[in-house]
Amino acid sequence: GATTVAGVAGAPVRHSLSPLIHNAWLAAAGIDGVYVPFSPPADSFIPFVDGLRGGAVRGLNVTLPFKEEALMAADDVSPRARLAGAANLLVFSPEGAVHADNTDGVGLLHAFAVQAPGFDPKAGPVVILGAGGAARGAAAAFVDAGSPQVRIVNRTLMRAEQVAGTVGEAAVPYPLDKAAEAMAGAVAVINATSAGLSGQGELDAPLEAAPAGAVAMDMVYKPLRTPFLARAEALGLRTVDGLEMLIGQAIPSFEAFFGRRPPVETDVRAICLEALSQ
Ligand code: NDP
Repeated sequence: GATTVAGVAGAPVRHSLSPLIHNAWLAAAGIDGVYVPFSPPADSFIPFVDGLRGGAVRGLNVTLPFKEEALMAADDVSPRARLAGAANLLVFSPEGAVHADNTDGVGLLHAFAVQAPGFDPKAGPVVILGAGGAARGAAAAFVDAGSPQVRIVNRTLMRAEQVAGTVGEAAVPYPLDKAAEAMAGAVAVINATSAGLSGQGELDAPLEAAPAGAVAMDMVYKPLRTPFLARAEALGLRTVDGLEMLIGQAIPSFEAFFGRRPPVETDVRAICLEALSQ
C-alpha cells in the first residue's frame, strides 16, 4: 500500500517536537508512514486545509497560531474541540471531509497519570491560571474527569468569566489578584498562561497559598523547568510538565492518523529532551 502521510501545521513550525515523536513511534512500530512539518502562510490556513481535502495527507496536528481557525476549516467538530474553542487535530476522510478534534485534554490527564500517580481529580478543586484556548480545554477536561470545581484565574477577569460561562456550573472565575484565595484547598494548580515561555515574562502566582499536597503543572515546556515549576519544587509540591502533555496529546493523534496505538514504550521523552537541550 501507499505510505501514510500526516503532519503538523504551525507558524513557526521549525521547532515543533511532534515530528520527532510521531516518526520515532512510526519507526518503532514498523509502520509505512511519515509525519512532516507544514508551515502555511499565516493568512491562508483555511485554503491550505481545503487544498489537502481528499488528497494524500491523512491528517494534521495544528499548533499556534491556527488552533482556532482549525475549527472553521472543519466540516464537523467534536464536542470537546467545540468546548475548548480550538482544535489541535484535523483528520481527512477519503471523501474529502475534514473532522476537527482536540486531544490536549487527554494529553493533560495523561501527564498527571504519568508524573503524579495517584492524583485524583475528584478529590478537590483545581485551579487553572489563564483563559485562552489551552485553559478552556483544560477546564473542560477536568470537569469531564469529575473535578468538583474548576477555578479559572486570569489577569483579564472578563476572559475568565467567559471561559467559566462556556464550561458550566463547576467553573468559577477569579481575577489574578485573588489567586491566593483560589488556591486554598486546591488539589492541583495548572499554569495554562503563556507566561514562563522563554522571553514572555514571569507569572505572578502565589503558589505558597496552595496546600502542601497539591500538584503543580505547567503547560509551557520551553524551558522545561519553568520559573513556575521551579517555585513549586522549592515549596515541595509534586510537579507535572508540559512535555508530558505534548506526548499525551500525540497518542490519540497517532491513533487517528495511523490506525493503531503508538508503541508508548518507545522513549520519545528522551528524544524530546535531547532536542530541547540543543
Ligand atoms: P493564549 O494566548 O490563548 O492565552 C494566553 C493566556 O496567558 C491568557 O489568559 C493571558 O492573560 C495569559 N498571560 C500571558 N502572559 C501573562 C502574564 N505575564 N501574566 C499573567 N497572565 C498572562 O494561549 P493558549 O491558551 O493557546 O496557550 C497557553 C500556553 O499553553 C502556551 O504557552 C502554549 O504553548 C501552551 N500549550 C501547551 C500544550 C502542551 O501540549 N504542553 C498544549 C496547548 C498549549 P490575559 O487574558 O489577561 O491576556
